[in-house]
This record gives sequence, C-alpha cells and structure tokens, in this order.
Amino acid sequence: MTNQTLTLDDRLYRYLLDHSVKEATVLRALRQETAQHPMAQMQIAPEQGQLMALLVQLLGAKKTLDVGVFTGYSALVVALALPPDGQVVACDVSAEYTAIAQRYWQQAGVAHKIGLNLAPAADTLAQLIAAGQTNSFDFAFIDADKSSYPTYYEQALRLVRPGGLIAIDNVLWSGRVADPATQDNRTNAIRAFNAALYQDDRIVLSLVPIADGLTLALKK
Ligand code: CA
Repeated sequence: MTNQTLTLDDRLYRYLLDHSVKEATVLRALRQETAQHPMAQMQIAPEQGQLMALLVQLLGAKKTLDVGVFTGYSALVVALALPPDGQVVACDVSAEYTAIAQRYWQQAGVAHKIGLNLAPAADTLAQLIAAGQTNSFDFAFIDADKSSYPTYYEQALRLVRPGGLIAIDNVLWSGRVADPATQDNRTNAIRAFNAALYQDDRIVLSLVPIADGLTLALKK
C-alpha cells in the first residue's frame, strides 16, 4: 500500500476502465472515430468524461460551458448528464472539427442542449459577461489553447456561480510541467497557470491526476 497516487501501468489502467467506465454507445463511437483523427491526442479520456458527468450531476447543473470543443466528446458527455432543459454553451474556432461533433450530438439526441459558438472563446465568453450572465453557470470545462488558459479561467470564474465548478484539462501536460529541462512556451504557460491557481483564494482547489491532469476549481 502507498499514500502516493499510483502510477498506472497498462494492465492496471485496463482494470480501471473495465471496472468503472460505462460509456454510452454514441460516446464510444465518437471516441473511436476521433482516434483516427490526426489530432487524436486532443481527445479526453473516457474515465475523465465519466468523472465530469458525475460532477455535473452532483452539482445539479443546468447551464455549462465547454471551452475547446474539438470533436465534441466533452460537450456530449456533459449534455447527456444534464436534465432535458440543460444547456451547454460550446466554444471553438474550428468548423472542421466541430462538424464531427455536431454529427454525434445529433445522433445522441442532445443537439438541442448544445449551442455552438464558432468564434474565439474569449470573445464568446466576453459577450456572455456583457449580456449579464455572470454567476449563472454551474460548470465550465476549459480545454483549449494553453496560452489563453488565464483568460478563459478569469472569464469562467465570473460566469460560474458561487459553488459552481471549473474543470481545466491537461494541467500535468504529460508530466512535462515537472521536468525542469522542458522550457517551451506551452509548458511554461501551464506551469504559470498552475502556480497562479495554487495561490488563488477565490477557489477551492484539487488537481486530480486523471488522464493528463484535471484541475477542479470550486468557486467560493
Ligand atoms: Ca485536452
């Protein structure tokens, strides 16, 4: 036994998947199609999607943000967990990637819950703030360009209600955040972001070592 988070070898990871992940058929189909995509590494892991669905249900969420849609898995897994009148405000700049997303949202019967904004996410979030939607979202998932994480986070923190949750993806960045020899811009951006959140008294923080690292920030 150990008090330290386990390193999962392939066998133990497979066990985790086999004993926890209950993935809807449409989610699995989307994940399998996305696995063939040149940018497949941008796909979130199924156990992470399932955790996010659980958190959305725990929050009793109705209104959520999805910053960085890609082929739509995170928006779909959240939309499936929302009540019938639930809403996902989805942000992405790629018509190509989100065309795949929309096909699966339709197939899953939740397209009516997901509003796609094909524009820079910072612009969409600024419009929501200007439209008086601060403190009205229950949940936000941030998984877009890493250099803009501080911007998205500050905007999401305004839009989410007290007691609402912001989840931020890739915060362990394949482990590179802890390797002093790695000094590229994106790694340093994530380091600076993680350091800032650690000092941020506006939130309750947990960095969950699931998939590529998922920070949970509960707005006080
Ligand atoms: Ca990601």
